[in-house]
Amino acid sequence: MNDITDLYDDVRQQHILCQLLQTLDNGLILLNSDYEVMLWNGFMENHSGIPIGSARGKSIFELFPNLPKIWLSKKIDSVFRLQIRTFCTWEEHPRLFEFKSTRPLSGHSLMMYQNVTMIPLLGLDSKVSQVCLQIYDVTEIATRKKALEDAYLSLQRLSRTDRLTGLNNRRFWEENLEQEFLRSQRSKRPASLIMLDIDHFKNFNDTHGHSAGDDVLRAVSSHIKTSQRTTDIAGRYGGEEFAIILPDTDGQQALAVAERLRQQISKLQLAWDTQLLNITVSIGISEYNTEMPAYQAWIEHADTALYKAKVEGRNRSVLARTFTERSLRL
Ligand code: GH3
Ligand code: MG
Ligand code: MG
Repeated sequence: MNDITDLYDDVRQQHILCQLLQTLDNGLILLNSDYEVMLWNGFMENHSGIPIGSARGKSIFELFPNLPKIWLSKKIDSVFRLQIRTFCTWEEHPRLFEFKSTRPLSGHSLMMYQNVTMIPLLGLDSKVSQVCLQIYDVTEIATRKKALEDAYLSLQRLSRTDRLTGLNNRRFWEENLEQEFLRSQRSKRPASLIMLDIDHFKNFNDTHGHSAGDDVLRAVSSHIKTSQRTTDIAGRYGGEEFAIILPDTDGQQALAVAERLRQQISKLQLAWDTQLLNITVSIGISEYNTEMPAYQAWIEHADTALYKAKVEGRNRSVLARTFTERSLRL
């Protein structure tokens, strides 16, 4: 009688356990060492659309052909071999199983992000007989973290960008110049700096108005943006002054770049009201020199050349004398 009662209790426990596994909000998969599914729960049935009856005995890689087979089989093998549990986070593999998210509205993601734990299950002989994969839906956490990262990136972008022109702002551009300066110090490769200033811009503003002036600044900036090489770094240095770092470019090459830019800008026709307006720019160029004590000296050097371009009549480019020559003269 007692035996029957015990047996009944066992069956009842098994029944409850089965319900527990079925209703669990995590995925559970039992795999043998050939990666074949022995069992999976309701979560897996619901999300994969495959009932356990159809999954049992089939390889997990056959059921989910998009799984990273080499990587995952190695992981599972190591759980069998070393008898220790292992993890895979959503950061490592965002969506191991390509399930749809059940919370697309709150999570803002159509696909489910997952953390997966792989646990060794011991048989009666104390050897690992199966590996249990537990799949956690971490869509909400992942999408929140991603939203935070996106917000951080756009804040960072904003803090580096000049609002009017969309170019790098002065602070961020100077940080880049300092980096380029240090890189040139180490590599001994040439690099040049272009400082560009719109001629008689005060007059322009006074004649056509500040909004027309803003349009000019935007037009010059977008011209600089489209004509620069991907390695060049352009920024708005001041009101109507722009600066471009040209890595791997010696002074003569930079002078050619500057001249092309100057000529193109002088041909820009800026539509304002019923008129087509023109502007010109003056440019100072300075090649990096090992004698320069700090990046500020590089700016000063280019600025001196720019001043010379202004004094000599504007609408021209001037390449600064070598830094040593200039120092000797001072
Ligand atoms: P130069 O040829 O010697 O460079 O003469 P300039 O008139 O261009 O130089 P100056 O430094 O005397 O004047 C610069 C003008 O740039 C004055 C200022 O009103 C204008 N400016 C600075 N920032 C902005 C801006 O964001 N928008 C507009 N529209 N004008 C600006
Ligand atoms: Mg000016
Ligand atoms: Mg100026």
